[in-house]
Order: sequence, then structure tokens, then C-alpha cells
Amino acid sequence: MKPADFEYHAPDDLDALLALLAEHGEEGKILAGGQSLVPVMNFRLARPPHLIDLNGVAELDFLRAEEDVVRIGALTRHAAFHRPVVAGPTGKLLSEVVPYIAHYPIRTRGTFAGSIAHADPASEWCVIVRLLEAEIVARSRRQERRLNAAEYFQGTFATALAPEEVITEVRLPLLDASWRTGFYEFSRRAGDFAIAMTAVALRTVGGKITEARIAIGGVEDRPMRMASAEALLMQGAAPAEAARAVAAAVKPMEDIHADAAYRRDLVIATTQRALERALA
Ligand SMILES: Cc1cc2nc3c(=O)[nH]c(=O)nc-3n(C[C@H](O)[C@H](O)[C@H](O)COP(=O)(O)OP(=O)(O)OC[C@H]3O[C@@H](n4cnc5c(N)ncnc54)[C@H](O)[C@@H]3O)c2cc1C
Repeated sequence: MKPADFEYHAPDDLDALLALLAEHGEEGKILAGGQSLVPVMNFRLARPPHLIDLNGVAELDFLRAEEDVVRIGALTRHAAFHRPVVAGPTGKLLSEVVPYIAHYPIRTRGTFAGSIAHADPASEWCVIVRLLEAEIVARSRRQERRLNAAEYFQGTFATALAPEEVITEVRLPLLDASWRTGFYEFSRRAGDFAIAMTAVALRTVGGKITEARIAIGGVEDRPMRMASAEALLMQGAAPAEAARAVAAAVKPMEDIHADAAYRRDLVIATTQRALERALA
């Protein structure tokens, strides 16, 4: 199918983009890589009267590692992460996760920030943003806001972003060398969205886990941290026990791919394997 008619705007700097967003409000939609928005428009599930294309805004095309943060500008494509963008556990984790996102041609167009804006519950980057306690920088003509991942995700395709706001960058705090990370996801075929996935980061000192983070995706309507299982790991629990604690804590969605009981079983496996990868 073809999309409903729309007016196309191609601002070439950030001020012009913010002015267009302010002018069109709910009637305007940002176009980044188009890998989620265009299919939705073709199926006429979205009919934005105004399409505001980010791709000419050169100020948003950056990817910078600073002392303790990676700054991912709105035009950074998924494919930029195939090689570690920074030394240490964070760059390694991002490069391990990116091949799970769709297929290579899609990864050369789709953007990191677009995934965060779209907020699919099965988005790998949304889980990573939650795991790494990232900051989402949202700009409108009136203000800049910095949102933490916990407050930002509000449900399936629902976020704290206002219609006149654009995500200009996502800031990932860097994990230092005392952290180890692991990721595991289950999908029906390579390139499909995950039915369940787990990302973990463990700080180990002298072989003991002193800090633990577990984030899951594809299971509930948004990426979730699993506090009870994290606490168990810090008390010395084995991966299998922590994985069972995750399954006990989640309230899984049901859809055509999996019912709640199956997702609960899957998240035991994804969590245990992600933890084993981190500890290997
Ligand atoms: C066959 C297929 C398989 C896929 N599999 C996966 C998968 O396994 N995992 C996964 O995570 N994704 C998957 N995707 C989606 C893909 O990763 C998209 O690239 C991503 O979801 C959106 O990024 P985009 O840049 O293409 O955004 P667009 O499609 O351009 O936009 C998506 C939404 O975000 C908004 N938006 C975009 N950028 C911004 C911004 N900077 N500020 C505010 N709002 C913004 C748009 O207005 C729109 O509402 C798949 C897509 C396809 C077609």
C-alpha cells in the first residue's frame, strides 16, 4: 500500500527543525531512518499530515566517546556499532547486541535514537538504554530536557516525549573495566523481533559480584530492570536462581508469538544464558 498524502519538510538545521515541530505539533512526525515509520504509514496505521525529515540536520550526525559517556546523535545508524565505538565493556556490549537488530540493510538506515523514540517493547537498544541508565536528551523550541530511562519508557510505543520534542542525542554512561556484560535473545528467525531478551552488567571485585543489573525486553510492555534478581546476585546467588527470580517478577504480555507462560519460561533461559556469558 501507499501512504496517505502528507507534506514533506526537509529542514537543514536544528533551529528550523524545532520551528517546524512547534508549528505542526501533533500533526507533524519526524522521519529518521524510516524503518519503522514508513511501513506504519504504508499500512495507513499512521497518517501524519506533515513529515519532518531529520536527515539534513548535520548537527545531529555525531557519535562521540568522551571521558565517561558515549554521546549518540540522532542520525547515528545502528550499523555504526558493529565495531566497538569505545574501548571497554560498553563498546563490546553494543557490538554484540547490534547484529540482533533486523537485517544489515535495515541497520544501515535505522537510527539508535529512532529506536528509542519508537519504543517497541522488543527493541534491543531500548533494553540497553535501560541497562546502562542512559540519559535521553529531548529538545523543543522552548527547552532541553534530560530524561532518565526509567521515567522515559511509558508502555508499548509510549514515551515521555512531547510531540514538539526531538531526541537530539542519547548519552550512555560508560562502564569501567570492573564490569562484565552479557546479552541473549530468543526470536523465531534471525532478524525477527525478540520474543524475550536479557541484557546484564555485573561489577565484580575479587570474583564477587558487587553490583548487578539485569534488563529484559520483549516480555512486558517496556524494558524493565529486575531489582529482586539483581539483589540475589549480589548475595551470591547462582545464575539459575537469579533467572527464576526474574521469571517470578515479570508480568508477561501475550500475543500471537507467545502466551504468558511461554514468555515466562523463555526469560528464564535468556537470563541464565546472558549471565553465563557475562561470567564466562
Ligand atoms: C523487517 C524489520 C525488522 C526489524 N527488526 C528489528 C529488531 O529486531 N529490533 C529492533 O529494535 N528494531 C527492528 N526494526 C526496526 C528498526 O530498528 C528501526 O530502525 C527503528 O525502530 C526506528 O529507527 P528509524 O531511524 O528507522 O526511525 P523512523 O522509522 O524514522 O521513526 C520511528 C518513530 O520514531 C520517531 N523518531 C525517529 N527519530 C526521532 C528522534 N530523533 N526524535 C523523536 N522522534 C523520533 C518517528 O517520528 C517515528 O514515530 C525492524 C524493522 C524492520 C523493517
